[in-house]
Amino acid sequence: MKALVLDIRPEEWDFTTGLNFTDVLEPKLDESKEPADGSKVIIQPLYTGFCGSDKSIWFRHAFKDLIFNSLSMNGSGRRICGHELLGEIVEVGSYSAKVYGYRKGDIVSTESHIFCGRCHQCKIGDAHVCSNHLIIGISIDGCFADYVKLPAKELWKTDPDKIRPEVAAVQEPLGNAVHACSRVDLRGRTVAVFGCGTIGLFTILVARAMGATTIIGVDSNEKNLKLAEQLGVDEVFRVSADMGVEPNSEIVEAIRKRCFGEGVDVAFEMSGSNQALNTALSATRAGGDIILFGLSAGDYTLTNFQEIIMYGKSMHSVVGRKVFQTWYTTSNLLTSSGHNLQDKIYDIILNKGEGTVFPFHQFDRDSFEKAIQEHPKIVFKY
Ligand SMILES: [Zn+2]
Ligand SMILES: [Zn+2]
Repeated sequence: MKALVLDIRPEEWDFTTGLNFTDVLEPKLDESKEPADGSKVIIQPLYTGFCGSDKSIWFRHAFKDLIFNSLSMNGSGRRICGHELLGEIVEVGSYSAKVYGYRKGDIVSTESHIFCGRCHQCKIGDAHVCSNHLIIGISIDGCFADYVKLPAKELWKTDPDKIRPEVAAVQEPLGNAVHACSRVDLRGRTVAVFGCGTIGLFTILVARAMGATTIIGVDSNEKNLKLAEQLGVDEVFRVSADMGVEPNSEIVEAIRKRCFGEGVDVAFEMSGSNQALNTALSATRAGGDIILFGLSAGDYTLTNFQEIIMYGKSMHSVVGRKVFQTWYTTSNLLTSSGHNLQDKIYDIILNKGEGTVFPFHQFDRDSFEKAIQEHPKIVFKY
């Protein structure tokens, strides 16, 4: 079968880019040899999403150790990437059928963080921070392939009559925004989103649907801010690209002015910029909340630690999705008639499919690399 793989040696990491479109062996279910296959299924992808993390692998910005450590553990020389999936089940392990009720032909998406079900966090319902988690497309083979083998317990049944397939394929990253927006009550609140890339744009949509009244978008990229405006933010502020770590006082003033002179109720830091983090902290009113999702490599400096304590500001970090609470909320939001989330995602974030939907089997490295730098989200059609 065809697959998009990382098949370089560790020492080639620093002077290569991209993924290799190549032939690999199909995954099989064989319960007689591998009893664990009983709890798995084989899925044929229909649409898959290219994640920010896939982009970091493409450009060799992150995940080197995770990938190569997992490869040396399974004695393999290549990893099939991809974890944002909409696909059709084509083969079902006996336990997957008996216990989970999956059948051939079922259409599913998948949680990308495979949880163990046995550790402390899993046992108390915090499986999104499982101690033994594996990430699809990083620590096990992923869905940029004709077939992918996945555990039944991770799957999310999806009704293609209710959610259009290009959007259904990005339920997992949309879930990051849903998780972020679920950390605090947004009803009637003023909100600023720092970083209007893919998850920032999703956050704008979800925050609105969850009742935020004033939404401000902040970014250094003009194109991102255009998209934020098309999605209906109330105001955008353009910052110059990163200038160290001190808060951007102009942006802090402008946001305070917009929000009763005090600052927003809730700031979302989605960019990973150290300066944006400190700006977000200062632009949040006393007693407000800062939701942290953006992350870059290296150390961060908090220039306003005193402010956090003395003004009673709360910081919350977000990783992955609550399994499966976030998935239920995401599905409810997508199928609600009130917010047109699907149309906004398809028409604006996916640019009505123009330049954003790539036929998987006609993979062309150059045009693909251009597209992932131009659009917030790219999907493969199989
Ligand atoms: Zn992703
Ligand atoms: Zn666990």
